[in-house]
Amino acid sequence: MALFVCVDGLQARSAAVMEIAPGIFMWPGHQEEFSSHNQGHIANIGFIVGSERVAVIDTGSSYQEGLALRKAIRETTQLPIEFVIITHMHPDHSLGAAAFKQDKPAYIGHAQLSDALARRQSVYLKRMQEILGAVAEGTEMVFPTQTVAVDSSLTLDLGARMLHLHAYPTAHTNNDLSVYDQKTGTLWLSDLLFIERTPVVDGSLLGWLKVMDEISRQPCIAMVSAETGGSGQCGEVRRIVPGHGPVTTQWQKALADQRRYLDFVAAGIRKVISKGGSISQAVENVGWEERENWLLFDEFHGRNVTAVFAELEWE
Ligand SMILES: [Zn+2]
Repeated sequence: MALFVCVDGLQARSAAVMEIAPGIFMWPGHQEEFSSHNQGHIANIGFIVGSERVAVIDTGSSYQEGLALRKAIRETTQLPIEFVIITHMHPDHSLGAAAFKQDKPAYIGHAQLSDALARRQSVYLKRMQEILGAVAEGTEMVFPTQTVAVDSSLTLDLGARMLHLHAYPTAHTNNDLSVYDQKTGTLWLSDLLFIERTPVVDGSLLGWLKVMDEISRQPCIAMVSAETGGSGQCGEVRRIVPGHGPVTTQWQKALADQRRYLDFVAAGIRKVISKGGSISQAVENVGWEERENWLLFDEFHGRNVTAVFAELEWE
């Protein structure tokens, strides 16, 4: 599948989207780290089509990737793109947002997204420039114009299709947002769930475990809208879209796999700390029993241990 031909051809390319449920389209990301080869397309991004309007969910790593997604939308429907939902701050999800400015959409994110983007703006843009070169041209950060407060929800009406957005306390990051499509029972969790690829802790491991417990026990938290009165109406979750990895109907298992990894990390680090050990001892010894279960383990596991050590050191 030749997704990427050459830089000159980028304007013309469109995303290789797949319809994962009626009206829900996903462009699967490569299970790799950013590189010029994959042109930054490493996250699952996509869009949902109602009878009157379209919502984009995440925009990719660059203006060009956003344009490719926009082209795929235009090949699917001429309905207006009125919402661009950014599930969290990470560059592989957020940096293609400028491609949709021409549509004048509401850019929607977690209440803490703006601050998080502002803090990382220069680092993210510089890094993308370094890795992607000319492909990063035109890439800029776009800040949300509408936000969802932590622990609350927002409903979007796409026409004969309601989307329920929910903002979580600190987990994968401090600005994670999920999208639930009532019509098909699709819960787009983005990076609150990694499948096959090593989960990245950039918020709070303990917070993430709590959020996963909540989702696992009561997926309704992602669906009940404050705006519709929090009626308690709860559809079923038929499939989950992770931020990285294949869409799954076996989502309880996927959550359990991720929990197992995070539990190993937490338990191992606590043991090191209780013996007065150092971060480097933890990096050397903790969590390696999970290595065969995850892609990109060597690239991300050490960073996770370092971050979680700081979190658990003072608990
Ligand atoms: Zn992320």
